Amino acid sequence: MTSKPESNLISVSQLSEEIRHCRACEEHLDPNPVVRLSSQAKLLIIGQAPGTKVHATGIPWNDPSGDRLRSWLGLNREQFYDTRQIAIMPMGFCYPGKGKSGDLPPRKECAELWHGKALRLMPNVATTLLIGQYAQQAYLHAPGKTLSENVSNWQQYFPQYIPLPHPSPRNQLWLKQRPWFEADLVPQIRRFVHQLLEPSLPQG
Ligand code: SF4
Repeated sequence: MTSKPESNLISVSQLSEEIRHCRACEEHLDPNPVVRLSSQAKLLIIGQAPGTKVHATGIPWNDPSGDRLRSWLGLNREQFYDTRQIAIMPMGFCYPGKGKSGDLPPRKECAELWHGKALRLMPNVATTLLIGQYAQQAYLHAPGKTLSENVSNWQQYFPQYIPLPHPSPRNQLWLKQRPWFEADLVPQIRRFVHQLLEPSLPQG
């Protein structure tokens, strides 16, 4: 009798529990993984890493960056946190700490350790929002391309991926210098996301 591979036996809740106990980089940070996996979700959001407020509350995107992301997507908090629709998995699941200029990058070992396992358990994901340079470097396989090039060429990766800038207030200058992003691209992405998440959402 052949046994099934282990990855077929584990469930989203088991993997989430394993992740919750992860201490792989405790030498470098205070482990508190913030991730919402879902076997049903159609939309996956891959961001950077929790900031201090997300670290303190354990709720992903529970900060001004999340407020702006929800406004881009035209989703309220209830819709955004509905794991039947949306899964959330940053490049680094734990707050990486402060560097000289802002937060440190996400720990590299995190995506290497967990992303493959998590993606295998989320077969319904049709589209992934890649938010910020780390997610885009990991998934777009577009060496040498800047974040601005990835975002302006978003249709090249659509519908599997949608590269987006980070909605952090620290990114205000990037947004101001590229008014086309919020004027033209955001409404298209919002429409697409609403269509993808139907019938549970009203059309925006
Ligand atoms: S950042 Fe990722 S790999 Fe590191 S302790 Fe947190 S969950 Fe584990």
